[in-house]
Amino acid sequence: MYQFDIAQYVDFRPPGYLCPRCASIWRADEQLDWPQGWQYFSDDTLEAWRCEVCQLWFETSRCCPDLKDYLKRWHCSLEFHDLASHLRSLGSAAAELRSPAGQFARPGRALRNMLAALNQARHFVHVITWGLSWEFIGMLALLSHRVSVRAVVSACEEKRAQQLLEAQAYGGEDFEVIPLCQGDLSSHPHQKLIVIDGIMAISGSANFTIPSWREVDNGHEHVLIETRPEHVWELNKTLFSPVWHRWHPVTNDVVSMRRHGRRWADSLKRIEDIDF
Ligand SMILES: [Zn+2]
Repeated sequence: MYQFDIAQYVDFRPPGYLCPRCASIWRADEQLDWPQGWQYFSDDTLEAWRCEVCQLWFETSRCCPDLKDYLKRWHCSLEFHDLASHLRSLGSAAAELRSPAGQFARPGRALRNMLAALNQARHFVHVITWGLSWEFIGMLALLSHRVSVRAVVSACEEKRAQQLLEAQAYGGEDFEVIPLCQGDLSSHPHQKLIVIDGIMAISGSANFTIPSWREVDNGHEHVLIETRPEHVWELNKTLFSPVWHRWHPVTNDVVSMRRHGRRWADSLKRIEDIDF
């Protein structure tokens, strides 16, 4: 019989940081408390940090904020209070999602548990999907008042794309959506992924739509629930970050950590272009 060993908890390291451009997830370095996937470079002309996933250089100097403070300013530093309780809540939702529907399950079991897991988010939610239910636009906007929400929606109808973009006006400060509704559909990403706080990921065939999630209970859609942090980060890194990086409006290869703005992307613009 399997028994949980609390000694395993000693080795557990939660995610610590996100890259502001590609949204890759990094664990905090145990000694230095810096993102492990960022490298520091220094020579006579340049002091910089580089994200190993999107290769963006973050230029720094003595008058710049510390890297940790910089990431904190843009809501890219993840601190979990009462982590044990958070893990229990997400773990419970994951266990419910993994359990077979069964003959006596209440209708909407999978959808209900997926929403329950989303509702546990404390820092961020990443979504990549092919199509999106109307209801989920409001749900993501509401969620974004509490946590950062980043979503890429492939094969998005024009009207839905318009509503998604409008939702950013009534959503929270860190609500970013990229609806893909033009051009060759074969260039749109087809993978489906939901990442919650870098602790839980849901991948598989189900789109972020109510009909798709109803079909999970019928066995006509398949979802995989990942709760091992390193695997969650890898899914985020391979399925979400390249897409986010590709479609994100920030095209700079080097950014200065000295700049300010309302959003991170604004901090990279020339001062006269910022929409205050
Ligand atoms: Zn990056």
